[in-house]
Amino acid sequence: MDLIPSKLRQFVAHVGVIPILFFLSAIVTWPILAEMELFERFYYYSRAHEDWDLDELGMLVINLSIALIFSAIYQSRRLKKLVHEREYQRKRAEKNARHDPLTGLMNRRAFETKLEVAGQHLSDADECFIAMVDLDKFKPVNDLYGHAAGDATLRAAAQRLQAEVGEAGAIARLGGDEFAVIFERGLDATQVERIARRLLHTMTQPFDHDGAQIHIGCSIGLMNWSADISGTEALRRADKSLYDAKTQGRNRFAWYDAELDRQSHERAEIQADLKLAIAKDEIEAWFQPIIQIETKTLIGFEVLARWTHHKRGPIEPSVFIEIAEDSGQIGALGLSVLRQACRAASNWDPSLTISFNVSPLQFHDPNLVDQIKEILTQSDFDAHRLTIEVTESSIISDFGVARTKLDALKALGVAVALDDFGTGYSSLASLRQLPFDRIKIDRSFVTNIAGEPQNQKIVTGIMSLAKGLALDVTAEGIESREDLDYLEGLSCSLGQGFLFERAVPAKHVAWLVDEQWSDWAKGPTEITEKVAVLQSKAS
Ligand code: C2E
Ligand code: CA
Ligand code: CA
Repeated sequence: MDLIPSKLRQFVAHVGVIPILFFLSAIVTWPILAEMELFERFYYYSRAHEDWDLDELGMLVINLSIALIFSAIYQSRRLKKLVHEREYQRKRAEKNARHDPLTGLMNRRAFETKLEVAGQHLSDADECFIAMVDLDKFKPVNDLYGHAAGDATLRAAAQRLQAEVGEAGAIARLGGDEFAVIFERGLDATQVERIARRLLHTMTQPFDHDGAQIHIGCSIGLMNWSADISGTEALRRADKSLYDAKTQGRNRFAWYDAELDRQSHERAEIQADLKLAIAKDEIEAWFQPIIQIETKTLIGFEVLARWTHHKRGPIEPSVFIEIAEDSGQIGALGLSVLRQACRAASNWDPSLTISFNVSPLQFHDPNLVDQIKEILTQSDFDAHRLTIEVTESSIISDFGVARTKLDALKALGVAVALDDFGTGYSSLASLRQLPFDRIKIDRSFVTNIAGEPQNQKIVTGIMSLAKGLALDVTAEGIESREDLDYLEGLSCSLGQGFLFERAVPAKHVAWLVDEQWSDWAKGPTEITEKVAVLQSKAS
């Protein structure tokens, strides 16, 4: 409870305590002084004791009192100014804590609070939308024109945003060149889209700064906020849709897509699990037979990575290999698979070879050759039994570097193959300049070759090219007897494909080795029978 009314407190603060006390004491003491006729007494007393100089002393007291009053007034004014200044600073700090000082818009904190409040008042009937706006090509503005220009552009962009959104929504600058809008005023999706379209248009109009024309643009993520999610989740979804708009090519808007979100979520989870799986050698080396076509004998295997996730089950290699590449884990993955493959193959008949895939990123690792050498030594595996498969994307960036690396691999005794031949640039220069032992014709040209004249022409061309350059050829993706016969007619030396066998785990390799491959390669109808046999053998 307030004992002193606020008005009185304000008055005291305004005038100052000392003058008031002085004034009050004067009022209180005046009648007493008057009653006692103190002044008269003082007058006669001072007259009687002239030599004591009491009147001068009195004057001194009066002067001191006046000085005291002035000093008190001065002090009180100073105090008042200080209080004002403090109040101003407090208000400014409060405003800064809620507003972005550059654009004057709400800042992230204030926006989050706003979302929290909006979330509490959201009902099923309400339509609420969030737009996340991110400027495109903004970073070069700072680099090219300086930070003053960058600031001016941000301010101008904020103004355009405000002009387009108007009263329909509340805008915040979340940081950097990222803005967000919440539309709570009963707009529908079409109206929100219309605003987004106008915004895309207006942001591509050049900004003037000191005579320079600055060109930027923006991408927009939109989400329809239904009642069942939190403000934080709503913002995350808007952010995700912005990310989608950017990956779709910028300068566009995208609505939140739950399926896309699920996929990236899954990807993120797989990426996290992959690390552990690699460390525990859970990405297994499996082996697909490579057959000498003329004799139908098994000459070796292509090593293919397989992953059975403890919860998700088998994951496609194309999925986890790409994730491993994107997250910088492909090197570790490859080495783990190669180590397992060499360990397993060192127990097989020494005439059997293994062929191992190296991704572009792994190929460019300066330690690759040393790492392969170490694995060969550790597993006591003869380097001459190993082929490294590289794709054209590995060598295209720098022939000189690729040559050095391939030479170093060959110096170990390892053979090198150009994989997926025909799908990349397939520059003849790469075949001529680099020391490949073999090319692998991509399965897109091989599967169904017997029925596709176009592919026949391509493969015939590749065959004669390989012959001219004295290169061995492996055809991958042989699925039918007809295709096998066609390739045999072209004198293609090696083949692999589902007609022979899919990749199998190391423990199944032993009985594959004993098979009569000429009996097996009979045609697609036999594949089901083969699988049944394999399964009975496996169990
Ligand atoms: P790739 O090097 O072209 O491997 C051959 C792919 O063709 C394998 O797919 C194999 O299962 C498949 N294949 C074999 N025969 C046939 C057939 O007759 N018909 C059809 N339709 N497909 C056939 P997979 O195992 O899914 O591997 C996909 C890709 O993943 C591989 O393509 C390779 O680029 C990559 N990969 C697999 N294992 C590794 C690895 O250990 N390291 C690296 N860096 N990449 C790997
Ligand atoms: Ca391959
Ligand atoms: Ca291939």
